[in-house]
Amino acid sequence: MVSTSLGVLQSDLIKFKPLLPTWKVLSIYQFDMAVYTKIFVKFPKKFWPEGKGREFFLYVSSRRGYYGVWQEFEAQYPDANVLLVTVTDKESRRIEQQSDNQTKAEIMEVLRSMFPGEDVPDATDILVPRWWSDRFYKGTFSNWPIGVNRYEYDQLRAPVGRVYFTGEHTSEHYNGYVHGAYLSGIDSADILINCAQKSMCKYHVQGKYD
Ligand SMILES: Cc1cc2nc3c(=O)[nH]c(=O)nc-3n(C[C@H](O)[C@H](O)[C@H](O)COP(=O)(O)OP(=O)(O)OC[C@H]3O[C@@H](n4cnc5c(N)ncnc54)[C@H](O)[C@@H]3O)c2cc1C
Repeated sequence: MVSTSLGVLQSDLIKFKPLLPTWKVLSIYQFDMAVYTKIFVKFPKKFWPEGKGREFFLYVSSRRGYYGVWQEFEAQYPDANVLLVTVTDKESRRIEQQSDNQTKAEIMEVLRSMFPGEDVPDATDILVPRWWSDRFYKGTFSNWPIGVNRYEYDQLRAPVGRVYFTGEHTSEHYNGYVHGAYLSGIDSADILINCAQKSMCKYHVQGKYD
């Protein structure tokens, strides 16, 4: 039972012997592995608005996805003085490849342009997760691209001989989510048990044009 992420399947971390058949490899590459990065930044003092209805704020840049979505945590963690900025996909991959100091400098520039009237101190700490660079994840969750249909999805989930596949990317209704990962584990275990105990091993992939 292979339960690694789609991103790992798209990498060469696991060597299948014999190699996976072409139909399986094609289906693996037809789906996307998204990257979603939550960068935490700590400051010696607060300089942003807080209180009800002000938990989130946005930065609009001409550069798409450049440090756009911000969140403060004053209600949950009083006096932590921490901000969270979320970036995705292309920006995530770019940021993962640079030093944390470079990211911090970019963030400081953005914040100082967002709050021109405030005394914005340098951040004292930054946490930059690197899900895309991590060979055991290669991203954060799968994404079903437009134009890819049920046929490829069934192929993505289908076993190859006695090798079974599970994980959020194989979840029937909730791919991308943690409950999808959980439910797919149950589904895959049922498929395996049916095969081992009841000899019901045939996995039906509906034809592309059925
Ligand atoms: C930043 C972030 C935010 C998210 N937010 C949400 C959210 O708000 N709501 C939500 O529902 N979901 C969210 N998700 C998605 C959710 O976490 C995933 O969909 C879920 O964890 C996937 O579980 P999984 O078991 O399919 O895969 P994984 O969690 O990737 O588990 C696979 C495991 O296999 C291990 N592994 C990989 N390669 C090998 C190998 N060669 N040998 C042995 N072990 C290996 C990995 O280390 C990992 O432990 C988020 C994910 C991230 C990263």
